[in-house]
Order: sequence, then C-alpha cells, then structure tokens
Amino acid sequence: MRDLARALAGPEPFADINTVMRAHRSRPMQAPVIDVGEPLKADIRPYTPFIQEIEPPQLPEQPPIPQTDLPQTQRRRAGLPDPMEEADFGSPQYQALEDSVAGPMITSPGKVSENFRAEEFACKGTGQIKIDPRLVSGLERLRKILGRPITITSGYRTPEHNRRVKGAPNSRHMTGEAADISVPGMSPAQVAEAARKAGFGGVSAYGGHVHVDVGPERTW
Ligand SMILES: [Zn+2]
Repeated sequence: MRDLARALAGPEPFADINTVMRAHRSRPMQAPVIDVGEPLKADIRPYTPFIQEIEPPQLPEQPPIPQTDLPQTQRRRAGLPDPMEEADFGSPQYQALEDSVAGPMITSPGKVSENFRAEEFACKGTGQIKIDPRLVSGLERLRKILGRPITITSGYRTPEHNRRVKGAPNSRHMTGEAADISVPGMSPAQVAEAARKAGFGGVSAYGGHVHVDVGPERTW
C-alpha cells in the first residue's frame, strides 16, 4: 500500500524541476502495483421473510337492527316484505307505524287503510308513491266524521312535479305528508272545519279544495 500511496502522491509540490527530472531518470515510471488486499466477501445470511401475523381487531358485538326499524328503501333492497302489506290494521305493528313521526313511508300500491288505496295518493306527474301513514289515518278519521267518501285531488308530488304545478317550495306534498281533498256535496269550509277536528295540523281551504297535512298546526 505504501507503493501505491507514493505513486498516487507524485512529486512533492513545488519541487525543483531538476530534482524531478533527476528522479525520473534514475527511476523510470512503472505501473503502480495496487494491493487490493483480501477479496471482499459478501455478507450472506439466510433470508428470513418478514411476515407478521396480524390478529383481526376484536369489535364489540353490535345488536342486530330490528327489521321493522329499517327504512322502506333498505327493506325493499333486502327483499323484505312491505310493512304495510304485512300490517293488519289495528295491530300493534300498524299502530307503531302510525305513531312514528318520521316512520317508514308507504311507497307501493295497494290498500293502505279501510277506505284508501296508495294509488289515490300517487304523484299525478310521475305516478310515484310516497305517503306518510299518519296522513292516511287522519283521512280515515275525517271520513268517519264526515260520513262521506273523500276524493284526493292531489297527494304526493315529486319536487319536479311540485314545481310544475307551482306548489309552495316547501310543500308537504313533496314529503308525502299532505293531500288536497274534496268531498262531493260539502263546501271546502265545512270540510276544513272537520279536518281540524280530525287532528290535521295544516288545514287550508282554497279554490274548491281543502289542503290537509300532518305538519304542525297552522292555516293560511
Ligand atoms: Zn295542498
């Protein structure tokens, strides 16, 4: 290694040119012998794959969601029967449905109460059905008070249809909570009065119809 160091170092810096020339003549340049020492040995260790076994986290057990509490759309997707089809009017199941504030909506055709069918409430523009069961039970009460059949002139309205018929922008027809009704042989004022007795929150007589809804108590 010393030979190599000398060879690489070369002549002393600022050495007298004659001294350099003399040195060169007396000892002609030779290819430096490079001592590489022991050949390098690769550090070879047996390969151990790094596999960590991960235990799945233990989650607390969730109570199953009662099938009757599922929203209507989820029930349909899960292939569960329509609660209204299963419900026997007057059964605790139906009562629970009727009492729920934002309970499942009626969305499929068929008989929904003693005197009403879901189709009567369908959107006049799209045929879609969305009915708050409280609206149906309110209309049944009203029918008993009046003792006459009720004609539903407008029930559910999709937001698009509501715009087309120039309904109020916050109309409860869009949530399936309202109906416009008429009763042959009775004035709108008479029907409106009976509707308040039947427990409807929103009641308004206009243009030959009476608007009823299950929203908070009000009139306009
Ligand atoms: Zn209305």
